[in-house]
Amino acid sequence: MNLLYNSTRNSDIAVTASEAILKGLAADGGLFVPERIPKLDVTMDQLKGMSYQETAYAVMKQFLTDFTEEELKHCIDSAYDSKFDTEVIAPLVKVEDTYHLELFHGATIAFKDMALSILPHLLTTAAKKNHVTNEIVILTATSGDTGKAALAGFADVPGTKIIVFYPKGGVSRVQELQMVTQKGENTSVVAIHGNFDNAQSGVKEIFEDAGFAKELADAGYQFSSANSINIGRLVPQVVYYVYAYAKLLENEEIASGEAINVTVPTGNFGNILAAYYAKQMGVPIAKLICASNENKVLFDFFRTGVYDKNREFILTSSPSMDILISSNLERLIYTIAGQDAEKTADLMVQLREKGSYEITPEMRERLADFEGGFATEEETKEAIHDTFAKTGYVMDTHTAVAAYVCAQYRKESGDGRKCLVASTASPYKFIHSVMTAIDEKYASADEFDLVDELSRISGTEIPKAIEEIRNADIRHTRECDAAEMKQAVREILGV
Ligand SMILES: *Cc1c(COP(=O)(O)O)cnc(C)c1O
Repeated sequence: MNLLYNSTRNSDIAVTASEAILKGLAADGGLFVPERIPKLDVTMDQLKGMSYQETAYAVMKQFLTDFTEEELKHCIDSAYDSKFDTEVIAPLVKVEDTYHLELFHGATIAFKDMALSILPHLLTTAAKKNHVTNEIVILTATSGDTGKAALAGFADVPGTKIIVFYPKGGVSRVQELQMVTQKGENTSVVAIHGNFDNAQSGVKEIFEDAGFAKELADAGYQFSSANSINIGRLVPQVVYYVYAYAKLLENEEIASGEAINVTVPTGNFGNILAAYYAKQMGVPIAKLICASNENKVLFDFFRTGVYDKNREFILTSSPSMDILISSNLERLIYTIAGQDAEKTADLMVQLREKGSYEITPEMRERLADFEGGFATEEETKEAIHDTFAKTGYVMDTHTAVAAYVCAQYRKESGDGRKCLVASTASPYKFIHSVMTAIDEKYASADEFDLVDELSRISGTEIPKAIEEIRNADIRHTRECDAAEMKQAVREILGV
């Protein structure tokens, strides 16, 4: 049966999966959501024996119903190949009493690769299916990891151009170097004077500007998004939760039907929403634990039912979670509002106009699957330090936020269910913060000198992504004010 996608702000808008992927965002500024979450049509017993690629097909075919088997399998096989440094794609590592699902074995060593290595293939397939002749321009705002993963995914993909905006001073040195050294004739990188929310709002404004879209269409271009507002990002992320559960079962870590908890270090709410979708597809997940850093707007939301972004924006050691407007939360709001687009649109107007909104008591009741927690900078460091001291395992700062929140939840709730932690980045990517947490003596060291030291103390190989940027040339130096993003796009495209 064909599954359609509605806008969270207008249920009359209903498009196919390929159209939703092409558009990225609905014309009314809403996000595309599947009209219902499909169930898995294979059993856990069948899933147990499947490879990552086979699992991806079993999950994604349920969502992307207008893709043929051949098309979808081609996308999957082109994405999950030797770009990953392990055949299992997403390994599970048991660290004390939790299971770390390592999602950082792709080209840019953060979990964004899980979706962004397949999105270009989904998008170019969708363009063909819909007879699009325009060149597709990917516009992306990044808090650090999406940008590089999207650049790597789209570099030199025929029929596409990609423009990435990142907050100057708001990303780690490794992240910045990864982006500004990006090769590919169709890639552009712009540093904006502002924070991630400014970059994200700027991109959304450009998307919603119908006049600009018309102008671009006349010049043979159309926009799409590689941000997690694109459903083509979200669907591939559901896969690894299904896969992880099946592997826990296969390895006899859990019994058949046993429910587990999942803790996700959260920024834009994409990754944890994918876990929620996996639960609705039929994976036995009890609690979805949303872990925030000191920008704990989501923690406050789950505790009070009030979403309030009017607060200081804090730069932390987990920059990919330094976000005050979690875009994907809109999809959850729509669900708990009983798929009421009018209600959702109204709350989003309040968010835009006064920076806050409050959900109703009925909506709060539907949030029972979620728990919120947060870790301060000090607690994040402590988690990295103590885990290394006890086990020799080195976590990155984002994963450490989740590991801390997971342990704290277990202690406070007495909930003894086994817990999966989404491990979202390699420690090499945030090496300065990670090494300083392990030992203060590294505080004054150069990031690149620390690479060999981390390899030595953790017994892990230096990832290719790090070796590559050590000597690469800087190719992108463009900067602009947050208010000038549209002008930057004009200059890059020559329109
Ligand atoms: C993007 C990112 C996150 C946050 O994920 P969301 O889907 O935006 O909630 C967490 N950790 C790392 C390393 C990331 O790159």
